[in-house]
Amino acid sequence: MTQTLTNWAGNITYAAKELHRPATLAALRTLVAESPRVRVLGSGHSFNRIAEPGSDGILLSLTELPPTIDVDTAARTVRVSGGVRYAELARRVRAKGLALHNMASLPHISVAGSVATGTHGSGVANGSLAAAVREVELITADGSGLTITRGEDRFDGAVTALGALGVVTALTLDLEADFEVSQHVFTELPLEGLDFEKVASHAYSVSLFTDWGRPGFRQVWLKRRTDQPLPDFPWAAPATEAMHPVPGMPARNCTEQFGVPGPWHERLPHFRAEFTPSNGSELQSEYLLPRSDALAALHALDAIRGTIAPLLQICEVRTVAADRQWLSPAYGRDTVALHFTWVDDMAAVLPVVRRVEQALEPFAPRPHWGKVFAVPAQALRERYPRLPEFRALVDSLDPAGTFTNAFVEDVLPPRS
Ligand SMILES: Cc1cc2nc3c(=O)[nH]c(=O)nc-3n(C[C@H](O)[C@H](O)[C@H](O)COP(=O)(O)OP(=O)(O)OC[C@H]3O[C@@H](n4cnc5c(N)ncnc54)[C@H](O)[C@@H]3O)c2cc1C
Repeated sequence: MTQTLTNWAGNITYAAKELHRPATLAALRTLVAESPRVRVLGSGHSFNRIAEPGSDGILLSLTELPPTIDVDTAARTVRVSGGVRYAELARRVRAKGLALHNMASLPHISVAGSVATGTHGSGVANGSLAAAVREVELITADGSGLTITRGEDRFDGAVTALGALGVVTALTLDLEADFEVSQHVFTELPLEGLDFEKVASHAYSVSLFTDWGRPGFRQVWLKRRTDQPLPDFPWAAPATEAMHPVPGMPARNCTEQFGVPGPWHERLPHFRAEFTPSNGSELQSEYLLPRSDALAALHALDAIRGTIAPLLQICEVRTVAADRQWLSPAYGRDTVALHFTWVDDMAAVLPVVRRVEQALEPFAPRPHWGKVFAVPAQALRERYPRLPEFRALVDSLDPAGTFTNAFVEDVLPPRS
């Protein structure tokens, strides 16, 4: 490849023969049909080689295809094309008086890439972003189109699919009525005596932040729907100034706080859409485990905080409702998600990642598909009971392995 192509964080330089940006669906179909190995690049916000085709394959970017965001106000759905990012989608949905159920911390990530990896926000009753998907439109290996709709048996393997089934050219998502959110930040929540269920259920979306420099949480972010009550939060003190989750970073990059009500898409992400980080000096890892184990897992991390803290920028604790997507890290279990934003030093971070995985091992954590992890493939397979069905789905739609790569093959059971 003449052009060097890296992910957003810059820790991955993708091995690929060529990068293509087709401008029409017809050109995309031809490229796919003629290429033995293809992967699609979304907005490149993953921290590992999940998007990499390998040196014999092509990388496809959908950014030159005409963007589509078709809101059906009567059906309360939106059909969105494969290259669109959440920031743009959310603005258009909101303009029609409707809402997405949730958003990730950053709105700059692509919709197709996010749902492919099980990306999530927070909230005990909120499924991952993939939970909103009702239909997936794919270009499969021979260049033909295929639509898979909720209700079909294979649908539960088709959304959080790691890019392994084909090029996602469009997704149709469920919407709901517009709602407003007010954001309230509290400081210094002790770990000792923490009633995790109560705190995590206190608002529509709750995030706890700690740098593990000392026990407990530096910040608690409550995102309350204004159509729901916000009882007193007796466990921590209200913040007296606007906060950024990472110590020392400017709060002006963050969404409005102090309970000022605003539209869902300007409160559910932590970071403002108009603040566009072009790249980031960080690495991320995240582990999703049963919510009932949250407290025990937090104590397990507290026991090694001396190892974690020197390489950590911030740790965020969120929740995700159980879902049925075969490869979703929240598959079949109400989930707590333990996220780590590390310093940008892979050599130093990787041993600590392994130490964290060792500490969390009793809780069978499923790593975020788009972040840095070292969990061996065998352990992953044990934690995803529907992987054999997913392997069969991949084999049926892509028998020659056009859309596979080393990352996917490592995770899936061998072809039969
Ligand atoms: C600053 C930052 C904040 C983040 N915040 C969160 C968060 O709040 N919650 C969370 O869960 N995660 C979060 N993440 C992780 C991020 O959401 C995931 O890595 C997500 O996959 C990024 O989407 P992307 O479009 O950049 O995907 P990419 O990294 O580009 O691709 C991811 C996968 O999707 C596939 N793919 C992309 N588009 C298509 C397509 N059209 N057709 C087929 N396959 C496709 C790729 O081949 C690849 O396998 C964050 C990451 C960053 C850098």
